[in-house]
Amino acid sequence: MSLANKLSQERRARLAAERLLEQKQAELQAANRKLGHHARKLSDEIVETRAEVENVRDENRRVKSDLTEANQKIEVAERRLWHSIEAIQDGFAFFDADSRMIAANHAWLSVFDGLEALQPGISYIEILQFATEEGVIDIGEMPPAAWREEMLDRWQSPNPEPHVIRLWSGEYIKLIDQRGHGGDVVNLALNITDTIRYEQRLKDARRTAEAASRAKSTFLANMSHEIRTPMNGVVGMADLLKETDLNKEQLLYTNTIRNSAEALLVIINDVLDYSKIEAEKLTLHADTFDLERSIHELVLLLQANARDKGLDLLVDYDMFLPTKLIGDPGRIRQVLTNLVGNAVKFTETGHVIVRVTGIAENGTCRLHISVEDTGIGIPANKVDHVFGEFNQVDGERDRKFEGTGLGLAISKKLIGLMGGDIWVESDEGTGSCFGFTVTLPLAEDADAIDPIVPEGLRHALLVEPHDLSRGILEKQLSALGLTVRSCASGKDALTALEDGTDLVVTDHHMADLDGMEMAEVLRAKGDDTPVIVLTPNTGSAMNDPMRRHLAAVLQKPVARRELLDALRTIETNAPGPPAHAEGKAPPPQDKTPLQGTARAVRVLAAEDNKTNRLVFSKMVQALDIELQFAENGKEAVNLFQSFAPDVIFMDISMPGMDGKQATGAIRALEGGNDHVPIVAMTAHAMDGDDADILAAGLDHYLTKPLRKAQLIDHISRARPEGARDPAP
Ligand code: ATP
Ligand code: MG
Repeated sequence: MSLANKLSQERRARLAAERLLEQKQAELQAANRKLGHHARKLSDEIVETRAEVENVRDENRRVKSDLTEANQKIEVAERRLWHSIEAIQDGFAFFDADSRMIAANHAWLSVFDGLEALQPGISYIEILQFATEEGVIDIGEMPPAAWREEMLDRWQSPNPEPHVIRLWSGEYIKLIDQRGHGGDVVNLALNITDTIRYEQRLKDARRTAEAASRAKSTFLANMSHEIRTPMNGVVGMADLLKETDLNKEQLLYTNTIRNSAEALLVIINDVLDYSKIEAEKLTLHADTFDLERSIHELVLLLQANARDKGLDLLVDYDMFLPTKLIGDPGRIRQVLTNLVGNAVKFTETGHVIVRVTGIAENGTCRLHISVEDTGIGIPANKVDHVFGEFNQVDGERDRKFEGTGLGLAISKKLIGLMGGDIWVESDEGTGSCFGFTVTLPLAEDADAIDPIVPEGLRHALLVEPHDLSRGILEKQLSALGLTVRSCASGKDALTALEDGTDLVVTDHHMADLDGMEMAEVLRAKGDDTPVIVLTPNTGSAMNDPMRRHLAAVLQKPVARRELLDALRTIETNAPGPPAHAEGKAPPPQDKTPLQGTARAVRVLAAEDNKTNRLVFSKMVQALDIELQFAENGKEAVNLFQSFAPDVIFMDISMPGMDGKQATGAIRALEGGNDHVPIVAMTAHAMDGDDADILAAGLDHYLTKPLRKAQLIDHISRARPEGARDPAP
């Protein structure tokens, strides 16, 4: 091989080596660049991570400081809370679910007087043990074990009721336990000694006040008793005086004494009733009574007053309502007398109407009674006031009216006792309407009136000028099964009568032609249609010569039963006096008089008051009897044995042996064989409860002042077979 070839070969090899070197250098540079790039990225990441680590560290530091602060706060709060709990006067403790004490404040622990065992961890039962063993608690007569058991039972109940305990020191602690979540119990022990003592003082004060009020009521009752006794003398003597020969002037004086005494008695009775109600000594007596009759009787009594004033006094008794009920008739009458009496008293013109409606079901009757008037009324601001005691609308206005202002207060209390309500609606200057409701049992034979009228009576012509009264009568006649035509005057009636009717029912006094004259005109025409006249004053009608033309004269307002009775009389055409409201014949006496031969009725009267003995003897002086007096209970018993009376009148309050004791002794002597009727005479209405007196063995009961008629009645009833008739 030539040199040249060798050289060129070497050059080519060197060139190839140089290119390879260049290539390797380029590769090396690229690798270097890549490495540099990685290194930068890595260092960036390292910087970032370092920053994050720093952040987390900061956060950690902050949390740590917050936690410390929070802990400090909790500590402070806990300290303050406990401090407060310690500061309160009442005991505070709490227990875990196993009834072990977790903590208790000083007040709670102080009850145990520093007893060392009272530490957190002690159980409730151990605490109870200490309480009884150390005499911390006054458990009275109760055995300690029983007391602990009771307390433990309470503690274990889900919601223990508050419980009051008494400490040996006389202080009262009220325990209030609250069971929380997880069974923990918070126990509060409140010292309520002051409250208890205050309550005690209030109770004492109340007892004293009640005793004072009772004493007042008893005083009033006794005082009215004391007044009634001499009043018996006044009324009785005035009565007797009236029967002697008096000239006109003397009679006037005597009547005035009599009436004033009666008026005084009414007031005394009111005061007495009121004090009895206040002292809760008034009891109601259940009796069967006829409400419609009671209302008519009292309306009859007040009729004279109403008539003097020109007032119409009407009764509208619901035609389907039974009349026989069970209640205290005297007290119902008392309420009605006051309401109707007030209505008449405070009304100058117009009418007073008593309306009775009600619902009878299931053996009872819910009555609704109202008394409506067209009088002076009551101002709106005084309406509530009138039911208060001694409350009259205004002194000036009412001064011209009599009354003490107790009537409505008593009525309200009585209706309250009967379980009813009483109210008033009134327009000053227009009128008032007083109403009450009571529910009373129906009497056994309480069915409403059986409205069967005689066969021949179908059509009635009613003549009545007053609209209200005509409306009521129309209702009543229709209820009795009649077809009713009405007119408002006598003249109209004559025209109407031309069409014929079976019966005329007419008012007495009418402007054109009165009821009596109408009957006369009819009879003159040869028309004998029966005529019934309704009049507020039966006395004058009965004396009217036209009376003979009438089938009946009835007292207005007329009760349905009386109307029915009159209609029935028409049918039977019975001889004798036609029915009228007054003077029903007394039941026939079965005792035959054996005058002359037989002995007189023996009457014993026990009465300690001299005047009253005189009154008694004068009242019975006209009787054919043998009378002896006892001045006290003991004498009465002796005379019962020696005199063998047919009837005994017995005063209740007498010195030494009183009327009830004397009756007891007499009943014992009788030994259940004979039974002498004993009639109580009492002014003592406080314990003069009839039930009380009857329970003592007396048979009847009279209140003073005595009435002559009542005495005579009792004596006649006691007349034995074969004794002379005591009647004068
Ligand atoms: P008492 O009834 O004791 O004899 P009184 O009638 O004055 O006396 P209440 O019946 O209690 O007493 O009545 C109280 C007052 O109510 C009356 O004085 C009167 O002012 C008023 N009052 C009662 N009823 C009516 C009435 N129908 N119209 C107007 N005022 C009346
Ligand atoms: Mg009154």
